[in-house]
Parts: sequence; structure tokens; C-alpha cells
Amino acid sequence: MNILVINCGSSSLKYQLINMENECALAKGLVERIGIEGSILTQKVEGRDKYVIQQTMKDHKDAIKLVLDALVDKENGVINSMDEISAVGHRVVHAGEKYSESVVINDEVMVALEDCVKLAPLHNPPNIIGINACKALMPNTPMVAVFDTAFHQTMPKKAYLYPLPYELYEKHSVRKYGFHGTSHKYVSQVAAEMMGKNIEELKIVTCHLGNGASIAAVEGGKSIETSMGFTPLEGIAMGTRSGSIDPAITTYLMNELHLSADEVNDVLNKKSGVLGISGVSSDFRDVEDAAAKGDERSQLALDVFYYKVKKFIGSYTAVMDGVDCIVFTAGLGENSPEMREEVCKGLGYLGVELDVEKNKVRGKATEVSKEGSKVKVFVIPTNEELMIARDTVALIKK
Ligand code: AMP
Repeated sequence: MNILVINCGSSSLKYQLINMENECALAKGLVERIGIEGSILTQKVEGRDKYVIQQTMKDHKDAIKLVLDALVDKENGVINSMDEISAVGHRVVHAGEKYSESVVINDEVMVALEDCVKLAPLHNPPNIIGINACKALMPNTPMVAVFDTAFHQTMPKKAYLYPLPYELYEKHSVRKYGFHGTSHKYVSQVAAEMMGKNIEELKIVTCHLGNGASIAAVEGGKSIETSMGFTPLEGIAMGTRSGSIDPAITTYLMNELHLSADEVNDVLNKKSGVLGISGVSSDFRDVEDAAAKGDERSQLALDVFYYKVKKFIGSYTAVMDGVDCIVFTAGLGENSPEMREEVCKGLGYLGVELDVEKNKVRGKATEVSKEGSKVKVFVIPTNEELMIARDTVALIKK
């Protein structure tokens, strides 16, 4: 059985066709510049040269049509016909409080996704456009929505409620939702397997550290706290996002610098974080290189980042009354031994003993704590696409 996984952004689309017998990707692809001059599709198949199509794509329907053409292409494709796609799994960012699990897409689900546009105005609209485009091209293929917010719906009310007037929650849905749920769920499950333990017995801190970054406390397989909030801006400092700051800074910037609400939003989302402090880049590779060459602000940006991650690990250990393992994932989490070493420094009192040699690993599921370390530390490459495909299979089999 093959599952097509689609992740639609406003002008881009990532896809994978996954063979569920061996859970391997038959093809992975990226479509960029949808609706913009210079549209391009790049498809990768293990052991073959990249297949690139440069062709005008005026909208997501054109893009998905081209994805299907690329998958069935006689020379460069991986299947003979679209009939070999059993179902499509869509990544959807926001489901509000409506769904705590993935769902088969029907008219009611589409209405719920539209309702959540106000909560995720940048992300849900392209997700909806992608689903509609797929429905138009594959009307008889079942489709499933897998939500970034769903895994965190198990947070207790004391964790997700902000100390604001209660009507803001009741009437305007203002609460913590959390994001990257599919990734936190996946890596916590793999960590339990690597420990040879039942996830229900474990307290896990999962650190998804990429361009966007979030940390979750996963107790007994359930998310009970996470660092992102009402939007993906809350929490630790990120590539270009500030993470949590004193909320009064926003009104101060509006009053003192005469910035509009949109301009403040822009500063916090696009000009802050590691980029804002270093002034060098939002890419940790560039910032690590600059710091190694003696750039002080780059080192400061990294120090602030490490400090925030460490603070969250400490507080989530307190929230769970202990921790059995810490997982690092996503671009930075999987690839930066230096970051992992700095974050784990001084966590000896918790029982964390990092093995500096093992920690040199990049991008491979590995235990990087010393043998006998009370708290295990793992590097686990995330695989949100596989998680989406697994949920899709489980739902269409029902
Ligand atoms: P993601 O959003 O998960 O794709 O992660 C992207 C981020 O991971 C980029 O901003 C990079 O800074 C970081 N990253 C990727 N590879 C490395 C590496 N080898 N060393 C340090 N950071 C990396």
C-alpha cells in the first residue's frame, strides 16, 4: 500500500510517496514558487539523479497535477498509475480544540478547518487549498488530515490556559495550542522503543530544534506541556522568532517607535531570535561558524538559545516530577553536537551524563548519553511524513 503525504505551504509543497509495507519513501519531492514566475518541481528517488521539472504552475492544483505526473512518469516515476496511491495524508497546522486525533477528511472537517483559519491565518489556508486541489484531481482517493496541534490536546487546562480574562478563552479561543505535535509524538515513541520500555511508564522531554523550535513534556505517551503557544511564536528563541518575551515590549514598541501591530509582528517573527541577536544569520550553521571565528554577538545568540533550551528542560522535569530521557530532533537537534553538549552541561544533578564521543553523531538515531546515565539522551531524526502516513493507513483501514 502506498500513501502520498502532502505538506502545502503558501507557495511551496513538499511530498513523499511512502510504501507502507517497508515504511520507505519511494519518492520525495518539493515544488517551489507556486503561482510565482519560475515554478519548479524537484523529485528525489534513492539511487537516481534528481528529476527536475521547470514549468509554470499558476496554483496548487497545477502543482499537485505535476506531482502526480512526476510520480507516474515512465522514465522518472516510481508507480505505473495513480491507482497505486491508496490514500493521501495531509499535514494541517491547526485544528483548534476540535480534533485531538487525525481524521478522515469530509465536509464537516473542511468546515472545521475553515473555522481555524483565524487561528492560523498563514498556515491553514494553503493546507485547505492543497486538500481541495487533491480532491479535485483524485476524487475517489480517501484523504486524511493530520494536525500539528492534535498531540498537544492532552495538555491539562492549567497548562494551556493563559492568565487572561476568561472570556478571551471562551469567546475568542485564546489558549495555548502547541505545534510540531506530529514530530514530538514520533520521536517520543522511537525513544521508548530505543529504551525497550513501554511509553506509558516514561517521562520524556522532546526538543524539536530547527528553524522553528519547540520543547514538549511527554508523560505516559501524552503531551502535558509544550513551549509553543497560541501561535508558534511562544517559547524558546528560534532562528528568526523571539520566543517568549515580556508582552509589554509589544506596546512599548508601538508607543515609543510608532510601529504598527503588523510591524511589531514582523520584528518578533522575522527579525528576532538568533538572527536578531547575532545580526549574522538565522541559520545556526552560519552563526556557529561566526562564533567559532570570534564573533561575540554570534556567541551571545547561541548562549541565549542554549540557556532557553536548558531552562525549559529544567521546568519540564519539574512539571513531570522527573525525567527518564531527553530527545533532540530536527535540523539543529539532529546535527549540532555543540548545542547538545552546551545544553546538557550542568544537568548532572538531574542524572544526565552526556558521552562526548557518542554525541559527535549527526542525523542518526543514537543514544548519546554514557552507559549507566540515569537520564538517557537521544538524537532521533524526526519523520513527520511517516507519522502522517501511519495515521492515514490506520484511519482508512477502519
Ligand atoms: P529544520 O527547520 O528542522 O529544517 O532545521 C533547519 C535548521 O537546522 C537550520 O536553520 C540550521 O541552522 C540547522 N542545521 C541544519 N544542519 C545543521 C548542522 N549541520 N549544524 C548546525 N545546525 C544545522
